[in-house]
Amino acid sequence: DTNKPGVPHGMPVFGASGRRIIYDEDGKPCRTCNTLLDFKMVTHAQKDPKSSGSSTNPALSSTAVSAMTIPMKKAAETTQYAKDEPPDVEQLGKASWSLLHTLAARYPNEPNAEQQSDMGQFISLFAKLYPCWFCAKDFKKYIEENKPVLESQEKFGRWLCDAHNSVNVKIGKPKFDCNLWRQRWKDGWDN
Ligand code: FAD
Repeated sequence: DTNKPGVPHGMPVFGASGRRIIYDEDGKPCRTCNTLLDFKMVTHAQKDPKSSGSSTNPALSSTAVSAMTIPMKKAAETTQYAKDEPPDVEQLGKASWSLLHTLAARYPNEPNAEQQSDMGQFISLFAKLYPCWFCAKDFKKYIEENKPVLESQEKFGRWLCDAHNSVNVKIGKPKFDCNLWRQRWKDGWDN
C-alpha cells in the first residue's frame, strides 16, 4: 500500500502492547494512532535507549501534578492542572464514538432535507479529518461503500452502529447488538 507510511529505519515495528507501531509521514510515531504505552515506549527509546521504568506508565503521568516541583509560594500563584496526556488511539476513539452516537440520539425522527445534508457533510468531513490517519483512511472507505442512511433517527443510529461494528471487527472487539443502540445512547437501560 503506497499511501501507508512505513517503519523508519531502525525504529521498532511492534510496541509493548504487541500492536504494530504506526508512524506519520515524517517518520515520527503517531501519537493519536498508537496507545499511550506504545507511543511512550517508542519515543522514550528514541531519546534514551537505556532508560526505562515509571515514565512509561500512563497511570503515573496522568495523575502527576506539576505542584510537586514548584516551590510553595509560586505554586499558590499558579493554576494547577493534572498532567493529562494528549489522547491516544483508544481515548480518542471512545470520545469520538460517544460524540457520534450522541449526535445520532439527538438527530430528528423525521429530518428535513437540510438536516440530512448537514449530517451527511459532517460525517464526510469527520472521516476526512479524523486525527488518526489510518483509522480515517479505512473509515472513509467504509463510508464510500456504505453511504450514511440519513432518512430517520432510527436509520442513522443503526447505520452508525454498523459502522462502529465494522471497526470492532477490524480490531478484534466483539460486535455490539444494534437492537440495543437506543438504550446505550439515548434512553438508558431502565426505559
Ligand atoms: P469503543 O469501541 O470506543 O466504544 C465505546 C462504547 O460504545 C462501548 O463501551 C460500547 O458501550 C459502545 N459500543 C461498542 N460498539 C458499538 C456499536 N457498534 N454501536 C453502538 N455502540 C457501541 N482503533 C484502532 O485501533 N484501529 C482503527 O482502525 C480504528 N478506527 C477507528 C475509526 C473511527 C471512526 C473511530 C471513531 C475510532 C476508531 N478506532 C480505531 C478506535 C476504536 O474504535 C475504539 O474507540 C477504541 O479501541 C476504544 O475502544 P473501547 O473498548 O473503549 O470502546
